[in-house]
Amino acid sequence: MSNPMTNDQLTQWDHDHFFHPSTHLGQFARREIGNRIIKGAEGVHITDREGHTSLDAFAGLYCVNVGYGRTEIADAIAAQAHELAYFHSYAGHGSEASITLSRMVAERAPEGMNHVYFGMSGSDANETNIKLVWYYNNILGRPEKKKIIARWRGYHGSGLMTGSLTGLELFHNKFDLPLSQVVHTQAPYFYRRDDRSMDEAAFTADCVSKLEALIEREGADTIAAFIGEPVLGTGGIVPPPAGYWDAIQAVLKKHDILLIADEVVTGFGRLGTMMGSDHYGLKPDLITIAKGLTSAYAPLSGSIVSDRMWKVLEQGTDENGPLGHGWTYSAHPIGAAAGVANLKLLDSLNLVGNAGTVGAHLNNAMTQALGDHAHVGEIRGEGMLCAVELVKDRDDRVFFDAGDKTGPRVVAAMLDRGVIARAMPQGDTIGFAPPFCLTRDEADHVVSVTKDAIASVLG
Ligand code: PMP
Repeated sequence: MSNPMTNDQLTQWDHDHFFHPSTHLGQFARREIGNRIIKGAEGVHITDREGHTSLDAFAGLYCVNVGYGRTEIADAIAAQAHELAYFHSYAGHGSEASITLSRMVAERAPEGMNHVYFGMSGSDANETNIKLVWYYNNILGRPEKKKIIARWRGYHGSGLMTGSLTGLELFHNKFDLPLSQVVHTQAPYFYRRDDRSMDEAAFTADCVSKLEALIEREGADTIAAFIGEPVLGTGGIVPPPAGYWDAIQAVLKKHDILLIADEVVTGFGRLGTMMGSDHYGLKPDLITIAKGLTSAYAPLSGSIVSDRMWKVLEQGTDENGPLGHGWTYSAHPIGAAAGVANLKLLDSLNLVGNAGTVGAHLNNAMTQALGDHAHVGEIRGEGMLCAVELVKDRDDRVFFDAGDKTGPRVVAAMLDRGVIARAMPQGDTIGFAPPFCLTRDEADHVVSVTKDAIASVLG
């Protein structure tokens, strides 16, 4: 740039004008939390304007799955922008990229899921899913079957409906959420079970019986769908207890309740398998995809629709006219071009395989280094996801007070040492979700920095 802005000038504008999402606005205004202006990135590292480099062990927001600086995707975006930056996809229009990507997604989706509606974010894809569920039940002549069951600690977005589905209080408080059509059931969070005498099988049975009680209370004829992430993400990076998904699906089937698998985090390889649904034997009616679809090189999301639902949607438009649901940017050609290049790269570099093997190495190394630490309650993960839950007292499972900010302090100490991890909201869990191209040496480095940072904060 010929006349570069100074950092001080940008910081002033940042404070004057830029409304940061998910930020403590008062602390930011008082400069109790600083700003960081990211300038560039390569592989698993990001660099800020002051020249500091960090290893990004959270892949942005678990989205830059193929790693930073991939010229194949940048070139595909540039070529698409030159050829056709935009045209809408209403009423039979599309682009080569969006049609090709729909085919590539269907090829990677579970059997019998062959139709893809593209949006821009995970939140809008989940909004689409709920509208499709409601439309479906209206067409089937059961207008009272509309409630959606979500789980406490689930994360499904920040919109009005999706923020309601999200089972984290921060996303409800003072926003008048959740909306009345949403009901929550127990999180499948074994480590935090109320009754510590339960083993995993008993805890799974407890989750199932709580779900059945909820369905009984509300009435199955009022409940349309159940939404869940194959592995709880933002709620703490929590793989389900043994047998959970099989048992839950049996209940849903019995009551004719649709299953929405929110694969915004798990889709396209994060668990070491192409889709989390395959990993856990899920047979969903709808799948939400976003992040890993383009590795965040351009905003793009999608709803994958089962053939069974698709037939009813078609019938609905025959009876009622065109589907009244579309975004200006649905299937944006630039996002679609990024998606095609991204999915090709996943295959050609075997990055899903790498997510499985290096992810297992990361989890094992973390367990070896910290499994016996007095303040580590649990280390858990799956594929290229890992979590370290910090506790005050490991034997009696006493949690730290939220006010101690133990998790955020450890994450800050890690950042000082050049590694980005995430303090997951609600609890003191340190989350890791690195790009799939992470090497074993880099994984070892992340582990040693984590250990060092925990020692510096907790001794
Ligand atoms: N679902 C899940 C499982 C997510 O993790 C997220 C984002 N973290 C969303 C939905 C919402 O996606 P977005 O932020 O793109 O709206």
